[in-house]
Amino acid sequence: MYILGIDIGSTTSKAVIMNDKKEIVASSIVVATVGTDGVSLALEEVLNQSGLNASDISCTVATGYGRQTYEGADYQVSELSCHALGVNYIFPDARTVIDIGGQDAKVLSLNESGRMVNFIMNDKCAAGTGRFLDVMANILKLDISELESEARKAAKPASISSTCTVFAESEVISQLAAGTSIPDLVAGICQSVATRVASQAKRIGVKERVCMSGGVAKNGGVRDALSKELGVEIAYSDKAQLMGALGAALYAFDKINK
Ligand code: ADP
Repeated sequence: MYILGIDIGSTTSKAVIMNDKKEIVASSIVVATVGTDGVSLALEEVLNQSGLNASDISCTVATGYGRQTYEGADYQVSELSCHALGVNYIFPDARTVIDIGGQDAKVLSLNESGRMVNFIMNDKCAAGTGRFLDVMANILKLDISELESEARKAAKPASISSTCTVFAESEVISQLAAGTSIPDLVAGICQSVATRVASQAKRIGVKERVCMSGGVAKNGGVRDALSKELGVEIAYSDKAQLMGALGAALYAFDKINK
């Protein structure tokens, strides 16, 4: 028996296949916005990787911003529930989840059983989300995956005072023209995201163990700054961006085994 979890996000489509032992058999991440063929590509990739056919899948659960747009799912489940399930599978002792995706940031509180008991979300403003980092990386002509190494080279992180992405963009361009180094700018950019999300997290209350999920978790510059802002260690797994899809697969597993 195989089950499939698909997370159709604002920026990427993710898919995870699990077997009847609740083990991850294959996974894929495709950068593509909702409404494009990102979902089909993610499915094609995950099936190829596993060596399975679509007919081998007993249950499919879709989650994420674009879950309603996918007709092949047996169930559609909110990304909040799926991130909680996915994180609980990897870090059973996590009590706070900071999920920063391409277009929003969420902080979830989990109880001892890993169930979500509270959450807070910013989906109104690009600052404090992956979008902010994508825009800034573009200005600096860096790939998004290079932000971590650049931030870690910083001697004196730049201060980015504008909270609005559009104004912050002009601020970065002026600082660049004034000679601020790329590493200092990148560290300041990561810090700006961390400051926004940390204030969101403090509003809901931060209980350890704190874990990051979502694509921005891959950026160690943001993880380091967030850890400093909150005064806690941040647990990180290389499956961070897959947590929603993983949670969707776990939801499917429970449905099949009930
Ligand atoms: P969504 O679910 O909303 O589509 P994701 O959780 O997939 O979003 O996160 C997408 C964001 O993750 C991107 O906007 C980007 O900023 C960040 N990201 C993706 N890949 C990397 C990487 N290799 N290194 C750093 N950040 C990354």
